Amino acid sequence: MTVHETDVLVIGSGIAGLSFALKVAGPARVVVVTKKQRADSSTNWAQGGIAAVIGDDDRPELHVRDTLAAGAGLCHADVVAGLVRDGPARIRELIDWGVRFSEEAGGRLSLGREGGHSRRRIVHAADRTGREIERALLAAVEADPAIEVFEDHIAVDLLVGEDPSTGERRCAGALVLDRRTGELVRFHAGWTMLATGGFGRAYRHTTNPDIAVGDGVAMAYRAGAAVMNLEFVQFHPTALYPAEGRAVLISEAVRGEGAVLRRIDGKPLMEGVHPLGSLATRDVVARTIAMTLRERGDPYVHLDLSPIPAETVERRFPYIFAECLERGIDIRREPIPVVPAAHYACGGVRTDEFGRTTIAGLLAAGEVACTGVHGANRLASNSLLEAVVFSHRAAERVREEVRATPCPAEPPCPTGRQGPDPEAGTRWEARGAALRDLMWECAGIVRSDELLARAEHRLRAMKRETELEFAAMLPDARLVELRNLIETSLLVVRSARWRRESRGLHYTIDHPYRDNERYLRDTVIERRQDP
Ligand SMILES: Cc1cc2nc3c(=O)[nH]c(=O)nc-3n(C[C@H](O)[C@H](O)[C@H](O)COP(=O)(O)OP(=O)(O)OC[C@H]3O[C@@H](n4cnc5c(N)ncnc54)[C@H](O)[C@@H]3O)c2cc1C
Repeated sequence: MTVHETDVLVIGSGIAGLSFALKVAGPARVVVVTKKQRADSSTNWAQGGIAAVIGDDDRPELHVRDTLAAGAGLCHADVVAGLVRDGPARIRELIDWGVRFSEEAGGRLSLGREGGHSRRRIVHAADRTGREIERALLAAVEADPAIEVFEDHIAVDLLVGEDPSTGERRCAGALVLDRRTGELVRFHAGWTMLATGGFGRAYRHTTNPDIAVGDGVAMAYRAGAAVMNLEFVQFHPTALYPAEGRAVLISEAVRGEGAVLRRIDGKPLMEGVHPLGSLATRDVVARTIAMTLRERGDPYVHLDLSPIPAETVERRFPYIFAECLERGIDIRREPIPVVPAAHYACGGVRTDEFGRTTIAGLLAAGEVACTGVHGANRLASNSLLEAVVFSHRAAERVREEVRATPCPAEPPCPTGRQGPDPEAGTRWEARGAALRDLMWECAGIVRSDELLARAEHRLRAMKRETELEFAAMLPDARLVELRNLIETSLLVVRSARWRRESRGLHYTIDHPYRDNERYLRDTVIERRQDP
């Protein structure tokens, strides 16, 4: 088997992985592996922007307060304070790397405002912020001779062994599949940064690109790392229906301009539900839509833009207008069919404020990580910020201690010799689709004890089948992803079953209230490794 030796291995080429790579390169040799093309990431699709305290009328305490209010009691206040404090410096660094944010006349950064923020503090690049960040970071990475990027390389599992100097278990890199050749390759590294993003693809409707299948959470859990707060999945209330594949987001700003949510029969959806009507918070709107769809069996609800003048619709929402028109919907005249869609994972691999997981040598940052910042619900535009702040902190530690020689790693996970049978692809696709439906129906926006139990039962059966195939067959990227999607979904469901209350993004009809006495704490799951 081919072995690559490096100082630092980064898995993932979104904002977390690339900004970390840029910071450690130089003192360290860095390899970035990414499972598709280098720009394939959620980062590339982020629209709104990055929150930071920059405006004259803003103060760190206010950003902290807004973040804690969204998090429903579970944010780690000290970590949030650090996030907010470091924000402006990280924005300046992105600009130094070449990111061109929108400016006002006079050259000041233009600041947007989003739901839950008490001040204007969203730094953005029009409505394609993520694409601009990804472009600039990739250009900076390409110009850095200390960083090598391997596209079409999917990490299959982490390599963990005993560090002879300390006797502790230490991550020593990863086993990676080269998708182009089908060859398994070992990347050995003194430090491994997991920056693999989220898992929106575990749900039937999602805004996430197809890379978001929970690889990082599953690999870290199998290696023995603790995972945290996975039940808190944020659903965006309005994605264009049908939202299979990567859904088009219909921004909150459309409701901000006056659009109204209605049932298919025309009845206003939010009337009598919330004083803010269609502009209620994301979780309330998403839950109301989900309950309506379940009760009535409708496939979607309508977003009625008739209160907005046609000329304003075209000028103010050119991207949404064009995307809908391409699908045959003229939003100047017709309502938009919308459904809620899985959008962001608040939970992930547990880390401290320096990106360290519970396994030595293994770091995590970005959406795959759970730092304690988001608690039970994420404040809009805090996720890109979290990714750069904690990548930076992790990088500082690594620069202090570049480790060139990895400790010996355990042999890679077993994979078999059989080639896939002719039906394998269809079978895996069907299993993936069944999982997405199951998660949507049973572990989505509105949950219950019975639904979650059913989900766990079926996921365990899927896991048994898939692990048998994985052990018997030659490595195949489709099977690698399916295996991880099942593992991560199972962890989401187990976390949700443990939390017998409703808080933030986790809502269950059997326990509809907050229970601070028993559940004012994080949900932590750890697979104990044999000593
Ligand atoms: C439509 C949309 C709009 C959003 N808008 C905003 C916004 O306005 N503001 C905000 O703060 N957040 C927003 N978010 C969330 C934000 O974009 C993400 O949380 C953030 O970009 C995650 O960055 P990341 O680097 O952690 O992961 P990603 O950007 O998803 O990158 C993950 C990388 O890991 C790679 N990878 C995954 N598994 C493997 C593997 N096994 N082997 C090798 N490589 C692997 C992927 O290919 C990819 O390169 C939005 C998200 C979406 C989907």
